[in-house]
Amino acid sequence: MNTLNDATAAIRSADRIAITTHIRPDGDALGSALGLQRLLATAGKTASIVGMDPVPQRYGFLMRENETIPAENTSPGAFDLLVVLDTGAPDRMPDAMRDWLPLVRSLNIDHHPTNTGFADINHVDPVASSVGEMICALARHAGYGIAAGAAEALWVAVVTDTGRFAYSNTRPATLRAAAGLLETGIATDRINDRIYNTATVTQIRLQGRATASLELHENGRIALVSLAREDFAACGAAGEDADEIVEIPRRTGAAVAVFLCEPRGDGPRETKASFRTTEPFDAASLCRELGGGGHARAAGCTLPMPLAGARDHLLGIIQTRWFTSP
Ligand code: 5GP
Ligand code: MN
Repeated sequence: MNTLNDATAAIRSADRIAITTHIRPDGDALGSALGLQRLLATAGKTASIVGMDPVPQRYGFLMRENETIPAENTSPGAFDLLVVLDTGAPDRMPDAMRDWLPLVRSLNIDHHPTNTGFADINHVDPVASSVGEMICALARHAGYGIAAGAAEALWVAVVTDTGRFAYSNTRPATLRAAAGLLETGIATDRINDRIYNTATVTQIRLQGRATASLELHENGRIALVSLAREDFAACGAAGEDADEIVEIPRRTGAAVAVFLCEPRGDGPRETKASFRTTEPFDAASLCRELGGGGHARAAGCTLPMPLAGARDHLLGIIQTRWFTSP
């Protein structure tokens, strides 16, 4: 693994920089990509976000024109560095961008402990709250100023990955980075309202279905909710409308909160699982064994089976692994 120095040197020595992030981008993926793109543009580099998956509607307010390019409208030859953000493994990259890896020098900036070190340079900091926080540190190290446009995006990255500074990944360095962003004068109250106080009727209906599905096991130490393909269809909901659903089982105070869903689509049914755990349950190691990854307290994976089978399978694994005395 490489250091902040290596990452900074790679960025310094490149003039034309492509930035990409993981599939189905969340606030940290999108915010760190836009933040890096904007601060590199201010520093006089040609920087573009390439091949990013569609942006969830709640983050649409951040987007400006001409900051993102579809992968098919450009090529690896047009860049001397590809920066891959918030992505712990190549299978989390958009397909078209994964194909770039052998063709252009790559720098991975990430905070997942399950990171596989797939890029040429891998700057991985598992104690960083967010890649947004890592970009703040990189900007400081490189001497790049953060203007308001970049700060707004980085704020979204840090706020969403820390659950508004509530999760255990919030550390003094996180708040110092956030303080630096506040100093640019951005209206964080308005940003927070856009992200958190704008649920659509569709999202509220979907939350209703998820709440109705709540099941508790092991005296409430496991809480699980699930949404089937039919639930999404009945609400006219898309996958991104389920972004916050895992907070529902979590709010019960369960040590292991699980959200299972069958993403919308016509293909064979598969089930996406999201875990939120308290100590000592290591969600990342469990998910890694199931082909996924993440952090100790928040991780995920996708099982190639319909919801009902995935529920039984996962509940069995959780109970055997964590709730059966040897
Ligand atoms: P979420 O449950 O919000 O989708 O994801 C929680 C955390 O686990 C995030 O940091 C995310 O990057 C990671 N994660 C979720 N699903 C997968 C997966 O299928 N593979 C890997 N490597 N990480 C995942
Ligand atoms: Mn992240």
